[in-house]
Amino acid sequence: MTPYVLVVEDEDPIATLLDYNLGKEGFRVERAADGEEALLKVEEETPDLILLDWMLPKVSGVEVCRQLRAHPETRRTPILMLTARGEETDKVRGLDTGADDYVVKPFAMTELAARIRALLRRARPELVDERLEYADLVLDRGSHRVTRAGHAVHLGPTEYRLLDFLMQRPGRVFTRERLLDAVWGSNTYVEARTVDVHVGRLRKALHRPGAPDLIRTVRSAGYSLDERA
Ligand code: CA
Repeated sequence: MTPYVLVVEDEDPIATLLDYNLGKEGFRVERAADGEEALLKVEEETPDLILLDWMLPKVSGVEVCRQLRAHPETRRTPILMLTARGEETDKVRGLDTGADDYVVKPFAMTELAARIRALLRRARPELVDERLEYADLVLDRGSHRVTRAGHAVHLGPTEYRLLDFLMQRPGRVFTRERLLDAVWGSNTYVEARTVDVHVGRLRKALHRPGAPDLIRTVRSAGYSLDERA
């Protein structure tokens, strides 16, 4: 599943560069040009990681950081601070900003992507791991292969994405709307009923005689991956 990175940067050329390159590195990027916009975006959808420029108009990077840390939804969201070379770095290093790491501009994109992955691996390993496992299920992201109890499971692309998402948070119940956003994207118009169709296909593909059903339907709430289904 694509990790969502929010880039908070007021300098348009840098934001564009980050957007383009992080997109190529396999991240889904949203941009905010100042602190206020950043806080609004975070309200809409909690990012998996926030790339935060230190020097921002209106609300400073440090203040944004403080507000994010005070918010229950983003208390533990990894924050990577971007700073300019010079004094700022000393300040960032010395201050208890609440950021998890910082990178000094100008930076190499490969280095930045590596730092982002390291932070994500620490905070949400299921986002960057090559292999997801749950009960007797294994999903290998490198080869796009799924097995149950060692037997190959053949899935269509939508069912594969659905399973990848569910395997990131086993036991948690997701509404149809949440699954639509995560698997189909928030910009497409798909009926909620479509989710039921694909969950049905996934359930059928995962079925093994005598083995428990791994997908639980929670009436009027949604679905979860659960071996106690
Ligand atoms: Ca700036």
